[in-house]
Amino acid sequence: ETMEYGPSVEDSSAVRDWLAAQGRFGHFIDGAFTDVGATFETRDPSTGDVLARVSQGSEADVAAAVAAARAAQPGWAALSGTERARYLYALARHVQKRERFLSVLETLDNGKPIREARDIDVPLVARHFYHHAGWAELRDSQFPGHAPLGVCGQIIPWNFPLLMLAWKIAPALAAGNTVVLKPAEYTPLTALAFAEICQEIGLPAGVVNIVTGDGVTGAALVASEVDKIAFTGSTEVGRGIALALAGTGRRLTLELGGKSPFVVMEDADLDAAVEGVVDSIWFNQGEVCCAGSRILVAEAVAPRFEALLRARMARLRVGAPLDKSTDLGAIVDPVQKDRILSICQAAVEAGAELVGGQPQDGCFIAPGYLRNIAPANPGMVEEIFGPIATLSTFRTADEAIELANATRYGLAGSVWSESATVATDLAARIKAGVIWINGANMFDAAASFGGMRDSGYSREGGHSGMRDYLAGPKVAPMTTPASPAPKAAPPAI
Ligand code: NAD
Repeated sequence: ETMEYGPSVEDSSAVRDWLAAQGRFGHFIDGAFTDVGATFETRDPSTGDVLARVSQGSEADVAAAVAAARAAQPGWAALSGTERARYLYALARHVQKRERFLSVLETLDNGKPIREARDIDVPLVARHFYHHAGWAELRDSQFPGHAPLGVCGQIIPWNFPLLMLAWKIAPALAAGNTVVLKPAEYTPLTALAFAEICQEIGLPAGVVNIVTGDGVTGAALVASEVDKIAFTGSTEVGRGIALALAGTGRRLTLELGGKSPFVVMEDADLDAAVEGVVDSIWFNQGEVCCAGSRILVAEAVAPRFEALLRARMARLRVGAPLDKSTDLGAIVDPVQKDRILSICQAAVEAGAELVGGQPQDGCFIAPGYLRNIAPANPGMVEEIFGPIATLSTFRTADEAIELANATRYGLAGSVWSESATVATDLAARIKAGVIWINGANMFDAAASFGGMRDSGYSREGGHSGMRDYLAGPKVAPMTTPASPAPKAAPPAI
């Protein structure tokens, strides 16, 4: 069954022609697309239509990609920073040139609203490559004596496919590493379009390699001869990767899940805070690792806040992702839809009340929130990773902090208050890698992003992000300190 498309629907014919021309995709290894062996389907979650068949990477495919990256690495690292920067600028420019194409492709594969793909995802991708072109030039002055790590294996999730690719590939290349990247199985297509861009700009073969496949392919990459694994995804899989790499001496960075607090103080601008919720948990269908999924509101303003929230929620449009007026598109896959609904059901069974949040035909869920929810309720504890927030109240700032920190995660947080003193005091006491004040989900390539506790460690973006792709400066080998010279004997009298 196909969706009803109104006149405000983005034209997808160029992308569909491209998909039809390709049909089946090989991996991108050593600058070329491989022959196609075993494949799997990737679908448009809003219709269920198959978009393309994509290769399921085997251990041998991973080994070939790592070998290509290994062979290319010395040459890439030997380029001057300015030369590497030229390639990164070219990648940025070509992403911009293909902005409409990439946005439509991302929307088809992931289900996110075209408005978000065009206004947020793809511009941030270009910005990330531009920013890291600068870092390629600055590496030697800012990190004197640091060397690239070598070959980096990179594993990314499906919620921001091309943006997560940019977050991984741009700093790795700027630092002088080469990469083997595995996109998520639900959303491999923009990574393959990016591989075409690498060819277009004449990036040296083997510098970027893309191997598609599921978790089995990911595990093969973790087990391969890479120097670093950079992983973004669920806390459970991240923990397994940390175990697999323990004792190997290979570097690991983890960007994992979250259950981030969204704290609204009594003196907050409530209209702005409600708009913040829209940007926070109803952005990208709530499939956002740093979503402000636990709304905590000062009791005194809670009734007014909730009335505003309900009214705003009722005006959000759930529908065809390619329709420019859509606010919430499709959930990425029926498996994820079921997962979201089962957590909501468990939350309701444990006593919470669900407002909105109803499943719709196909892969859609209306925006909603859980109220009257106890701290130990599964809806309050589990990362729902869908358009459902929780709403609870507090009386004092201390209670707000206690609730905010009552989670195993620590990725992000958002604080709303008209007082800078109140806001910065709260921000400092919330245990999270990123805190936004009177805002939410604000990203910039120069501002590093990452978590603490079960949300992982390491940073992506900016100076700290670069450091995670470099080996420390070469230090002179340790020598045993000479034993102190014996004190001169006191002169004989
Ligand atoms: P996931 O962990 O299931 O999958 C992520 C990636 O890992 C996919 O490419 C998958 O194929 C691969 N993978 C699965 N099993 C593997 C294994 N055993 N070894 C190696 N690779 C394996 O997560 P998901 O469902 O795709 O993504 C959702 C999760 O990602 C959420 O928890 C979300 O919070 C998190 N996330 C975090 C960030 C961040 O920056 N912290 C950003 C986006 C998403």
